[in-house]
Amino acid sequence: MTIAAISTPAAVGGISLIRISGSEAIEIAEKIFRPFGKKPVSEMPGHTCAYGRIVAQGEVLDDVLLTVFRAPKSYTGEDTVEISCHGGLYVTRRILREIISAGAVPAGPGEFTKRAFLNGKLTLTQAEAVADIISAEGKASLASANLMREGAVYRRASEISKKLVNVLSALAAWTDYPDEDLPEADPSGMLSVLDDAESALEKLIRDYDAGILFRDGISCAIVGRPNVGKSTLMNSLLGFERSIVTSHAGTTRDVVEERLNLGDVILKISDTAGIRETEDEVEKIGVELANRAIERAELILAVFDGSEPLNGDDEKILERTKERRRIIIINKNDLPQKIDKSYFNDEFILEVEAKSGSGVEALREAVLKMFALDGYIGSPEVFANERQKLCCDTALKYVTEARKALQAGETLDAVTVLCEAAAGALLELTGERVTDAVVEDVFRRFCVGK
Ligand code: GDP
Repeated sequence: MTIAAISTPAAVGGISLIRISGSEAIEIAEKIFRPFGKKPVSEMPGHTCAYGRIVAQGEVLDDVLLTVFRAPKSYTGEDTVEISCHGGLYVTRRILREIISAGAVPAGPGEFTKRAFLNGKLTLTQAEAVADIISAEGKASLASANLMREGAVYRRASEISKKLVNVLSALAAWTDYPDEDLPEADPSGMLSVLDDAESALEKLIRDYDAGILFRDGISCAIVGRPNVGKSTLMNSLLGFERSIVTSHAGTTRDVVEERLNLGDVILKISDTAGIRETEDEVEKIGVELANRAIERAELILAVFDGSEPLNGDDEKILERTKERRRIIIINKNDLPQKIDKSYFNDEFILEVEAKSGSGVEALREAVLKMFALDGYIGSPEVFANERQKLCCDTALKYVTEARKALQAGETLDAVTVLCEAAAGALLELTGERVTDAVVEDVFRRFCVGK
């Protein structure tokens, strides 16, 4: 089947791109395209373009540039034609309609990339990276998606599955020909290979956890007792009024979440209800939500009012967050300072005037430094998504079981079954052995036209 779709956004722009892919792409394009030169589309070599006119039932629709890619040298691996027309919504849709009347069918979401995968042009992880590049919101997520496209995860997963296949072939030789004079299966050799596979998988999963922070953003909770300036800080970080700022204590009663793009890193910030002892039922719910936000957050911005001495509520917050990755923010720098700073012995302490928006740059630097200290920066070689992480978790579970079974002297048949399950999970990760349902699911995330 030959598919067609508009690949540019559904909006008015300078140019729109319509893509046709499949065995009849060239024939279909020829029906509606009148070249200004001599060569008809069917005689154009691959990777060449021609200037001409789209004409449908005698009506001139637009002057366009048409590019031909011939199988297998195209994105999808099939004959592909791309038409760049003027970027009006009506004209673009009208040309697509003519292409469909000439025999193409509308492409589903991600169908071009799916065909590229099915034709062996991309691995599944590379295809997923294409979706990630489109949705990348920051520098780190784009870098990670690009690495993925170059096959970094694919390579690491295949190295591990190769190790498992070696163990499996040793096991197969032994279990298939038990009567032959084969040397005894060597459990210690297999054990060390399984050990290697196990640590490689653990490393991959650790990198994933680090990577997810950078791709999806670091979840960050702003906490502090009422009135220290949490909402003001959040608003100045985000540059607009989001949560209600009033001078009455206890006005932020729910948890508001926003994304703050700091360039290298995205913070998912939630401004929580002020934490203090309270009898107010509604406020109590807010305080509970705040406590939960603290538990979930990877980073805590603990805010204190510099113009007042620390009180019991402040001390509770310090106590509750002391084991966590936190930045102490002493606010209201513009007022005479009454807070006892010697009380804090944290590495990261910022003095800011949230009201004037000072401190955003210092915060960005502190966050980057803090995560760099934890080894999170500079290794964005991570998985694109939860699907890949789940495959890795499954593989790790089976490899660990296989290692334990071997150590416990269980039958080699049992070890074989476990190694096969682990290898299966990795082949599913790379897409080498994958069910149709998984493929459908992966491409459903794409936009039409990609
Ligand atoms: P929250 O309850 O912690 O969210 O505190 P708010 O953001 O609602 O702020 C409480 C009060 O402190 C408001 O009247 C703010 O205008 C004021 N405030 C916030 N930041 C500053 C600051 O940097 N300097 C001064 N002088 N006042 C501030």
